[in-house]
Amino acid sequence: MTGRTGEYEVVVVGAGFGGLTMAWELKQAGVHNFLVLEEGSEVGGVWRENTYPGCSCDVPAHLYSLAFDPYRDPRVRYPEGQAILSYLCEVTDRHGLRSHLRCGTSVVGADYGDEDRVWTLTTAAGERIRTRAVVWAVGQLHRPALPRMRGVDTFGGRMFHSARWDHTADTTGRVAVVGTGSSAAQLIPELARTASAVTVYQRSPSWVLPKPAASFGPVSRWALTHVPGLHDLYRGGLHRAADAVLAPTSQAGWSAKPLEYVARKHLRRQVRNPELRRKLTPDHRIGEKRILIDSKYYRALTEPNVELVTDGIEQVVSTGIRTVDGTERAADVIVWATGFRARQFLDGVRVRGRGGVDLHDTWRSQGRPTAFYGLAVPGFPNLYLIAGPHSFTPTNSNPAVKQHQVRYIMRCLTLGARLREPIEVTEKAMVSYLDHLDEALDRTIWPWGTASTWWKNADGTVTNAWPETVAAFGKALAGNDPSLSFAVPDSPERRTGVRRSRPQDEPCRTG
Ligand code: NAP
Repeated sequence: MTGRTGEYEVVVVGAGFGGLTMAWELKQAGVHNFLVLEEGSEVGGVWRENTYPGCSCDVPAHLYSLAFDPYRDPRVRYPEGQAILSYLCEVTDRHGLRSHLRCGTSVVGADYGDEDRVWTLTTAAGERIRTRAVVWAVGQLHRPALPRMRGVDTFGGRMFHSARWDHTADTTGRVAVVGTGSSAAQLIPELARTASAVTVYQRSPSWVLPKPAASFGPVSRWALTHVPGLHDLYRGGLHRAADAVLAPTSQAGWSAKPLEYVARKHLRRQVRNPELRRKLTPDHRIGEKRILIDSKYYRALTEPNVELVTDGIEQVVSTGIRTVDGTERAADVIVWATGFRARQFLDGVRVRGRGGVDLHDTWRSQGRPTAFYGLAVPGFPNLYLIAGPHSFTPTNSNPAVKQHQVRYIMRCLTLGARLREPIEVTEKAMVSYLDHLDEALDRTIWPWGTASTWWKNADGTVTNAWPETVAAFGKALAGNDPSLSFAVPDSPERRTGVRRSRPQDEPCRTG
């Protein structure tokens, strides 16, 4: 991939965990003519966007970090959102990635030129940026889902989504929280400390496992600091433990019953009131939706100033929220902790590949978005995704999945550089991948589960989640040869996936 004047070799869109990993790998490979475009004012992705009180991570810090510069603070077991953001900013500076970063730039279009075989990205400001390859690293959980509820426009107080926290709003009065997912579980205990009344509107409860203390004791701190290799051992152990214990819940595997037992015990311990306990007991199997790991949420719901409402919401009224039983509860502030529009990948972005084919039309005609291991789509040469369809893990660390994808994308870029041609995933490779994916999805409890979750449609079609372990994801990609799965468009190889000759390994640097 030789860049021409005014043309980048690679443009990465998004500077969260995925985009920063990509940028680092490009630098390591000696590619310097690349740009990272970020819509926001700083790196960090969801950790920049989510500033709600109590925002933290329920995945251990040492696991939930970048492989090339792991989080090493021996004091912190579970990080706060701000600590993750600081860590990502520090990594950006430490590795010289900031010189490639342009913030405040939103990409709204990407068009592939059949003649010059270059992508032209269009920004919201109307700028056009040419690049040989584009890597979308925009994540899955960044477009707030605001329910279309009757009467919303009539509400006289302040309201906002959990990921767009309005820090000018006074939350010391009566606060309504709609939703009881991971975000709500973290912010409700904080609101309960300051608000005069918190009303929590629950549509369905989640399984909650107890979260260990947020920081390490002195012995662990000392050991993590001084015992050689312990940090890496700990990080690797967490990864394997999540795959071995949490991942099987997606298939109602061996750990489902023991974990349900632990979750029920946690509920019994923290909630004495049988009626409240009944409302909080899920009627779906553990693993059908994301398990919450939290030790403050249940306790907060038992506070005298907190009410859990399980009657459905009929409408918003000027003074608060009315439920289907006709009760109106007053609120000064409504917090929509209602999740994200995660199933519409690259929503709002026009992406046209070879022959002007629209990516969204392609996905619509298939009935679901798909991408080869969540990272490439036939007909879209030199276009890659990080955290694309079916590459979210609900049970382990998502930065780890992204790391596997980035390594594979680097191998694709290297192959393209060797062939001096754009390459795309072959139909044959895609079909074989989808066969594997669908078999694995059929083994999960998701398609038939009764619980609603953001990674599947109402008809049970899973769109976002990877159905196996992260180790399996990494192994599949490590064992996949891009020169067999990718080919130059319109070459015989593209249709068959058979390579012409085996390219030698070489870095993707091309000057
Ligand atoms: P979420 O898990 O999608 O939860 C949204 C909540 O809103 C659910 O309780 C849902 O009810 C409810 N809801 C949605 N529409 C509603 C409506 N019209 N009326 C009433 N209730 C409605 O969203 P989230 O809590 O923001 O979390 C999203 C994801 O972000 C998580 O799954 C996780 O992957 C990630 N996250 C991670 C952390 C962490 O610590 N690592 C923290 C926060 C978020 P139903 O359950 O009935 O659908």
